[in-house]
Amino acid sequence: MVKIVVLAGGVGGARFVLGLKAALGLPPIGPPASEAASKQADTAEHDITVVVNTGDDIWLHGLRICPDLDTCMYTLGGGIDTERGWGRAGETWVVKAELARYGADPDWFGLGDRDLATHLVRTRMLHEGYPLSVVTATLCTRWRPGVRLLPATDDRCETHVVVTDSEGLRAMHFQEWWIRHGAALPASEFVQVGADEAEPAAGVREAIAEADAVLLAPSNPVVSIGSMLAIPAIRRAVRSTTARVIGLSPIVGGCAMRGMAETCLASIGVRCEAGAVGEHYGARVTGGILDGWLVHTGDGAPVPGMEVREVPLLMTDIAATAAMATAALDLAGLAV
Ligand code: GDP
Ligand code: CA
Repeated sequence: MVKIVVLAGGVGGARFVLGLKAALGLPPIGPPASEAASKQADTAEHDITVVVNTGDDIWLHGLRICPDLDTCMYTLGGGIDTERGWGRAGETWVVKAELARYGADPDWFGLGDRDLATHLVRTRMLHEGYPLSVVTATLCTRWRPGVRLLPATDDRCETHVVVTDSEGLRAMHFQEWWIRHGAALPASEFVQVGADEAEPAAGVREAIAEADAVLLAPSNPVVSIGSMLAIPAIRRAVRSTTARVIGLSPIVGGCAMRGMAETCLASIGVRCEAGAVGEHYGARVTGGILDGWLVHTGDGAPVPGMEVREVPLLMTDIAATAAMATAALDLAGLAV
């Protein structure tokens, strides 16, 4: 059995895992066809654990919102709105409109009616005392993503953004900066509030330690991957695993494909280039976390202490994404 751990954010992470599943011969969406049989024999051929960023999580309307976990769960479970990239397909917005008529704050966050059910179940379970990892596993019994989805941490650890605007220097939750302000306020810093005290969620440390390969999805290096590595025990686990640790660049030809990686990288003084992001992660032999770095064709630049390979890194469809995953596993020394 091959054990693979992926560190993932939302859209980039989820799309990559679709390709990884295809590369391993699994149906990209849903559980393996033979799940019942393999469960009985307890000999599932591939074991994929996706450790998902929780730095974007926030309380709104009294509900716990976990954008990246839900994007992964809905994408891999076949419930995502593929055009928007988040939330449920076939969504309606009655509750949002009703909240607006009450003038209920915040009015800037879209929570669809179908999506709301997920949030009600999650929040109720959290209030009953279940950790987020257990809540996520419970939600996944419906969505059957075919991988184990683990929140990076069960503790509250949120990304905040330090901005300067007419009100002066202040910090706000990442979601407020990203969604309410459309990432338009100049950000000088991204801070993972609570990271120092946060512990990895149950199973995260063990999955990384026992993995045959650890892959960093082409997710945002600052607010998706960076927020998980800011948790000291996660960084230690990645640094000490016997598996090879391979990253896939989210930067292609000097551009982030979508999202706000450019802004995030600028705020931490890293150039928006594949090589610069590889250097930012650093090689394990020089105190960083990577053994190998996969970059898009033409983006190759040597990074001290790690093997850099060029392959097409555009997730245009499942086949192209599966080829990326195969290249990453190959760089990890796994022939699958
Ligand atoms: P988010 O949490 O929804 O923002 O998603 P992630 O952090 O997982 O992924 C966002 C990142 O995915 C962005 O920074 C993009 O640079 C990267 N990305 C999106 N599409 C592609 C693609 O086709 N290829 C590569 N290499 N990166 C991509
Ligand atoms: Ca995210």
